[in-house]
Amino acid sequence: MKHFLTLSSVLWLLPVVAYSSTATQSVDQKYKTETQNVCAKIGRKLSSVSVKECNALSFDVPRFYSVGGLPILEKHFPATHADAPKILFIGGIHGDEYSSVSVTFKWLSTLNKHHSGAYDWHFLPLANPDGLLQSRSSRVNQNNVDLNRNFISAPDFPEPLVHWKKKARERSRYYPGQAPLSEPESRVIHQLIEEYRPDIVVSVHAPHGILDFDGSNLQPPKKLGPLHLRQLGTYPGSLGNYAWFVKRIPVMTIELEHAGIMPASIDISRMWTDLVSWVGEKTVERNQVVLSEPQ
Ligand SMILES: [Zn+2]
Repeated sequence: MKHFLTLSSVLWLLPVVAYSSTATQSVDQKYKTETQNVCAKIGRKLSSVSVKECNALSFDVPRFYSVGGLPILEKHFPATHADAPKILFIGGIHGDEYSSVSVTFKWLSTLNKHHSGAYDWHFLPLANPDGLLQSRSSRVNQNNVDLNRNFISAPDFPEPLVHWKKKARERSRYYPGQAPLSEPESRVIHQLIEEYRPDIVVSVHAPHGILDFDGSNLQPPKKLGPLHLRQLGTYPGSLGNYAWFVKRIPVMTIELEHAGIMPASIDISRMWTDLVSWVGEKTVERNQVVLSEPQ
């Protein structure tokens, strides 16, 4: 009897197991195809990022999509210990700042080879895929919204739409959308800030050729490679305004010198090593503060 029951259970389960396996395979294939498609588009658009380099990064299974249905690529590099600093790294929130995407890919490739596990990194190398990957790239997303004005404003700042009408002369490049977080691309970043809880957000732009920093709880680096610190202040609805003034998470904004010309390889390396050593210094300082607190 026992034998009969076991055999019948196995036979009954077989079709279910076979079906699940096929379903998992097709879901995996769907994700793989989506990622490969977007890598093919990136490789065609950016002369500094090859399709092979993009695919070699083995992006995480896509979870988020743009207005136009493109996956928003993500790559998480987990730390080996739970209290490691967490860094949310964002490239290409403005689709016409090509270098911000290309340089982010270079740093991603470096990290992919040398990730030590000392820090926890979460990368979105192309936050506005529709803006970049159309025939004529645009700063704004497919709904003509400047994603870097589509966040929630801090209480002391005006509403982004009011500011745009009164102070930004309604210039279309800076249109913040009808309401904060109206766009799926800015909602992704908002959700990651809520769930991932980064210690710092790094966002890459061009072409001001400076290093900007929002956050008075940390001493910012004086420079990253060739970029020198110059704090510009924040705009209502910008990521810097939301992350620092609402969430108290410092934001480092790397403004590369040119939107359409890559920095020299040596400068790409120097910016990365300066960034990593600054994160290391801040970690040491943080640990010293924690250790010196009364038990
Ligand atoms: Zn920008």
